Amino acid sequence: MKILVPVKRVVDYNVKVRVKPDQTGVDLANVKMSMNPFCEIAVEEAIRLKEKGVVTEIIAVSVGPTQAQETIRTALAMGADRGILVQTDDMVEPLAVAKLLKAIVDAESPELVMMGKQAIDDDSNQTGQMLAALLDWPQGTFASEVVIADGKAAVTREIDGGLQTISIQLPAVVTTDLRLNEPRYASLPNIMKAKRKPIDVKAPGDYGVDIAPRLDVLKVAEPAKREAGIIVETVAELVDKLKTEAGVL
Ligand code: AMP
Repeated sequence: MKILVPVKRVVDYNVKVRVKPDQTGVDLANVKMSMNPFCEIAVEEAIRLKEKGVVTEIIAVSVGPTQAQETIRTALAMGADRGILVQTDDMVEPLAVAKLLKAIVDAESPELVMMGKQAIDDDSNQTGQMLAALLDWPQGTFASEVVIADGKAAVTREIDGGLQTISIQLPAVVTTDLRLNEPRYASLPNIMKAKRKPIDVKAPGDYGVDIAPRLDVLKVAEPAKREAGIIVETVAELVDKLKTEAGVL
């Protein structure tokens, strides 16, 4: 069976993001970009399913600028078979990404879409759920274990205070949580091999999808700075400050 893995190019998780002075978004100039960590987990899981003989072909898809090809190349170097880049320099909201992914699913007929539970840049946590709704497919979100057998997926989900295991009929959408696996590093020979793997470049218009934004971002702000702590001399002074300054006693 074919598996589709959407991979998003985002600000690297090690980068301390800076908000633009006009508060319209975060500054992306000269910032290191990488594959969204939850998407790496999805690619790894797809490769493991291929290694087990469950999956025959892994297609990595990204919606974004030309540079998102690098993100697809990373997936190909890890072990995906081919890529599709839906190229655009515009900001693409989760609903538009979900519509593009639906069109690709219609064209490619995968039996499973394995994707991140959220992108660490906008923390939307929407695309997988919207895609499942548009396709009218079952979904297993926040997966920490996935077992495919007999045309079904048993998905163990991370929920508040525990784990829930559900069984869903394929085709289905699964979104990955942090504990599903530890993604591999691409080896040098595989990075070289990935250069020869095909990437199809498309435009949103090829799929008849209008990617015009539906949301207005009113303001993006940095979190409040933490104030420096102080050292008190005695317990009595601490209690006094907790009463009179912090107001917690
Ligand atoms: P989000 O709903 O934006 O938090 O993203 C959840 C998941 O949807 C990501 O981990 C990706 O698998 C997928 N996704 C979101 N945006 C894109 C994009 N521009 N290109 C490819 N996949 C995406």
